[in-house]
Amino acid sequence: MKTLLPGSTIGILGSGQLGRMLAHAARRMDYRTHVFTTQRNTPTGQVADLEIAASYDDLDAVRRFAEGVDVVTYEFENVPAQTAETCAQVVAVHPNVQALHVAQNRLREKEFFVQNDLPVTPFAAVDSLESLVAGLEHTGFPAVIKTAESRYDGKGQFKITLEEEIETAWEAAGHRSAILEGFVPYDRELSVVAARSVHGQFAHFGVIENHHRRHILDVSIAPAPVKAEIAEQAVGMARRILEALDVAGVLCVEFFLTGDSRLLVNEIAPRPHNSGHLTIEASVTSQFEQQLRAVCGLPLGDTAYLCPAAMVNLLGDLWRTGEPDWEALAHFPAVKLHLYGKREPRPGRKMGHLTALASTASEAVNRVISARRTLGGE
Ligand code: AMP
Repeated sequence: MKTLLPGSTIGILGSGQLGRMLAHAARRMDYRTHVFTTQRNTPTGQVADLEIAASYDDLDAVRRFAEGVDVVTYEFENVPAQTAETCAQVVAVHPNVQALHVAQNRLREKEFFVQNDLPVTPFAAVDSLESLVAGLEHTGFPAVIKTAESRYDGKGQFKITLEEEIETAWEAAGHRSAILEGFVPYDRELSVVAARSVHGQFAHFGVIENHHRRHILDVSIAPAPVKAEIAEQAVGMARRILEALDVAGVLCVEFFLTGDSRLLVNEIAPRPHNSGHLTIEASVTSQFEQQLRAVCGLPLGDTAYLCPAAMVNLLGDLWRTGEPDWEALAHFPAVKLHLYGKREPRPGRKMGHLTALASTASEAVNRVISARRTLGGE
């Protein structure tokens, strides 16, 4: 693949905040961006050079989109396989369609981890009430049932603690193909955002600590306070995953760290990740510039951190009593506000985030949480 230099056009499938921040990075370096989306005036479309609104099933529109760009990447993994494949017939798609295919389905993903000797919690495929009961014998209680596809922020997940909950759980999973996982009593949740170039160069942003609320990421902290050997193991596993999938682009691996210092791989996302947003301010190269570099065939950028950082998400819940107090926020000089241009602040919807920099990670966390509190959040 020829190296794509400034002036080239990046095609983005999907139009949320991840595409928006990629488009920002692209614009700074004078690349053009075309976004393919099912809606209009989207977070990505607002900053891209061109927003093409059509159905993912409209393969003629998909083909025309692919013909107008120099490379295609995606910003969420629910892009239908046929859409990505149609693009791949016209132009390079990074990360490749196979990586997307694995990440789209929780069962395929777990099987991929097992095939690559990566440690995971016990799991079972579930497609009926009977198989759910059988699966629970393998995982034990408590367990979590998750729909295999259309995964997003814990939707379609249900924790099963008691036998009486089995039927309700099967209802909650919508009678659809699902995965049952042994519940992990983890000490911490961690992620590694890593990148691999078209030429096989590897880079990573170290280990980030994550806290979730209602299954949605709430706070991310870098660097994570883990021992050097744990960090090394996590990065090593991330590298194996990127290499096994032959990824060119950015990929995030989420882990559980147990009380007895064992890492279990939870899931992957073949794109920049919410936990990596803090790299925009805290690292020499952000995860979005890294995605751009990786898919354009450029050498990867320096991932060194300039200082510790913490990020909190701003969910739609914060708008419950009206517009948050942005003026009060402006009194936090080391806190950076990102808003995604979404017009409807629904509960649980990611509307923006805040990043704080500080001389220690705990100071960054305190700073960013106080800032969110000023806005009316907890
Ligand atoms: P996921 O969509 O798999 O990332 O799940 C969202 C969040 O739910 C995770 O970040 C965890 O906080 C929690 N979770 C998911 N699976 C498990 C599990 N097997 N054991 C314990 N917690 C889980």
